[in-house]
Amino acid sequence: MTTQETIFSKIIRREIPAEIVYEDNLALAFKDVNPQAPVHILVIPKEPIAKLSDAESQNHALMGHLLLTVKRVAEQVGLNNGYRVVINCGEEGGQTVNHLHLHILGGRAMQWPPG
Ligand code: 5GP
Repeated sequence: MTTQETIFSKIIRREIPAEIVYEDNLALAFKDVNPQAPVHILVIPKEPIAKLSDAESQNHALMGHLLLTVKRVAEQVGLNNGYRVVINCGEEGGQTVNHLHLHILGGRAMQWPPG
């Protein structure tokens, strides 16, 4: 299922500014505007899938690509001592932007459990 227009669609189209750190034909990565760690980057598909639970079997390759993009971007920005990857899904998952995104959080030791 695809979603309605979100602020991330505008970032993909360069209609609003973002600090883009990586782009290819399927994915975009940019710095989170409200960082929760010294490094906080969002990786999104260009295809506007609203949330993880909307992904379908036809998105199989794209989902793998997003994870490998996380790995690539983490290496690119020098997260050599580890990092956390988060996908908030839906209202109780804490998702606030209805365009699937993977958070890369790094540059400090993470705590567990998350809130
Ligand atoms: P969620 O809570 O949906 O998992 O995460 C959404 C994230 O998007 C938040 O961390 C928030 O700071 C970030 N965000 C929201 N609007 C913008 C924006 O306009 N630009 C950027 N770069 N990040 C945004």
